[in-house]
Amino acid sequence: MLFRSQGLAETVAALDRRWARHDGALRAASGANEAILEAIPEPLILVDRDRRVVRANAAARLLFGDSVAGRDLDAVLRYPDVLEAAEEYLAGAPSAATVDIAWPGPPERHFAVRLARLPGTQNADDEPAILLVLHDVTTLKRAERMRADFVANVSHELRTPLSALLGFTETLQGAARDDAPARERFLGIMHEQAQRMTRLVRDLLSLSRIEELEHTPPTERIDVARVLGSVTDTLALQAKAKNATVEMDVGADVVPVTGDGDQLAQVFQNLIDNALKYGRPGGTVRIVGRVSATAPLRVIGQHRGATSTRWVSVAIADDGEGIPREHLPRLTERFYRVDAARSRQLGGTGLGLAIVKHILNRHRGGVAISSEPGKGSVFTVWLPAADTAKP
Ligand code: ADP
Repeated sequence: MLFRSQGLAETVAALDRRWARHDGALRAASGANEAILEAIPEPLILVDRDRRVVRANAAARLLFGDSVAGRDLDAVLRYPDVLEAAEEYLAGAPSAATVDIAWPGPPERHFAVRLARLPGTQNADDEPAILLVLHDVTTLKRAERMRADFVANVSHELRTPLSALLGFTETLQGAARDDAPARERFLGIMHEQAQRMTRLVRDLLSLSRIEELEHTPPTERIDVARVLGSVTDTLALQAKAKNATVEMDVGADVVPVTGDGDQLAQVFQNLIDNALKYGRPGGTVRIVGRVSATAPLRVIGQHRGATSTRWVSVAIADDGEGIPREHLPRLTERFYRVDAARSRQLGGTGLGLAIVKHILNRHRGGVAISSEPGKGSVFTVWLPAADTAKP
């Protein structure tokens, strides 16, 4: 008897131990689920059959606020398409749904909201019934918009010279066929328009080539003063036409940089060309090269990890019309111009500074722009010195 009851006690104890293990495992699993939910970087919310939020992970609380749990889905995500999809789900719609929404911000963000029904919980009132995951597609949307804008801009830039060329060919074939002076004038304009298209195509090709190389660091050792010397020689005629003086002062201690000689020449060419173009007729363009222990934060910040202990700066200053402050942050965007008509009249494509930015990105440097309307502008190029630059 004693023997039998001992056996029973042992069985109960064993059952107890098994239950404790099972309970522990359940708790561990639930704790792990909780941790996984919290750690998912995308905002994620669970709603019950009454469309009330029952759970929100850390990313969702950051987006909707700490008090999101307990609120109605209608109050949290006021998007008819999302609410409709949730309603359809609760009514038993079979397939998974994704709804795109624009979150007003600021900053404005775009999300693809994915809905999924949670299995086996449809009948309980206070249990999660639907999972909503907000996938951030802001970068994707921005890239799509930039691509569309870019194509629209290129088409717009090409349309004007093309219609001028077409118009003048028709006139030359018709009314102006035997009018020698008109023919000369029209041919001159046609030549100018064709040159404009050539410049545009050249800059577009240049930009795409630079973008291709952007993630391949340059390897040559470049003497900045030499590059500046040859660029100013190339631009001497242009300076003369504008009756402008180009002054150069590159410190004797300026060290070489690791770079791509042709690309750096293009950077300085574009900046000095702009300084002459937008500078005062009869004015002065000053080029100052220095070496310094640090660069502006916004330049260093773009290339975290590429810290250099020495930087070479080249400031190109003109005494022209200057640039109103509100335009400064957008100047390096493709086709961004302060005065489009004036830029075109001066032979600009609106791509020069975008090219400068991309080349300097490849060099892990940057450009800082400061300007005072009516007084002039200073474009300062920053490049990490060769001996300290890390790829
Ligand atoms: P663009 O071919 O029009 O010169 P950029 O990309 O080189 O194109 O420059 C963009 C715009 O920035 C110009 O259209 C002009 O409005 C402004 N800009 C650039 N450099 C200067 C400068 N040195 N002084 C005044 N405005 C400038």
